[in-house]
Amino acid sequence: MAGILYIVPTPIGNLDDITLRALRVLKEVELIAAEDTRHTQHLLAHFGIKTPLTSYHDHNERGKARTLVERLKSGASIALVSDAGTPAISDPGYRIVVDAIQAGIQVVPLPGASALTTALSASGLPTDRFLFEGFLPAKAQERKANLQSLRGEVATLVFYEGPHRLLDALNDMLKIFGDRDIAVARELTKVHEEFLRGKLSEVIGALADRDIKGEIVIMVRGTSGEAQVSDEELHGTIRQLAGNGMGVKEIAELLGERYGLAKKEVYKVALDLKGSKPAK
Ligand code: SAM
Repeated sequence: MAGILYIVPTPIGNLDDITLRALRVLKEVELIAAEDTRHTQHLLAHFGIKTPLTSYHDHNERGKARTLVERLKSGASIALVSDAGTPAISDPGYRIVVDAIQAGIQVVPLPGASALTTALSASGLPTDRFLFEGFLPAKAQERKANLQSLRGEVATLVFYEGPHRLLDALNDMLKIFGDRDIAVARELTKVHEEFLRGKLSEVIGALADRDIKGEIVIMVRGTSGEAQVSDEELHGTIRQLAGNGMGVKEIAELLGERYGLAKKEVYKVALDLKGSKPAK
């Protein structure tokens, strides 16, 4: 009889967050496939578990998935774990799950810790619909293009982020989404757990002078209206920015990016409005 592939979440900080079932499965399987065997060894030692480990990570995923599926076929049950949280959620796991399903192996997921649901549940933003985007691209241009494509999304947006790129990501969001409600969750389940909630501009202001450390989830309220900006909204925003002293060129750049419009087009509208009086 073939073995079972168990998908086993592990704590994202607080070791008490491992479940009783996860501990039992980790004890009972023949092999644990881990993203980083040394990291998982610490967890196993903490709970007195002596099950053998093998590595399964981004760089050996394809080949290793095939080898592990052979072991499963020959009757061994295997638990898949990542360094923290739920495997296959912005972590290695997808390939072995696909291969196991194709080979007719039973895949049994255990419920447990994930930064995604932990952060979202206390975000204060709508949770009835959300879109998990994982990590944004590291390169500025790709990140902006990615955010641009999400501008019309009504669901709450959820991103994973590292501390060094947090402010860049938030500033790009402000430019592209406008000043929406957000929640930033940092160091969940750990000693320095923190939530920052408010408008994008407020959270950016609160973080600007800080040395930001730790692991982070960013959540952004989806758009409340249509993806396309109406003339009325565009004109209103241009007038408001001009009233704050912003130049036509700057306005064209900012709003072109925010609304996905040609900068030239916004420039022309802004120039036309410059001479005209606000509509009554
Ligand atoms: N598979 C994991 C899960 O289910 O949450 C996510 C792994 S991903 C490689 C790591 C990212 O998850 C971090 O960069 C951060 O964005 C988020 N994360 C993980 N642990 C976290 C924590 N304790 N607090 C906040 N974010 C966390």
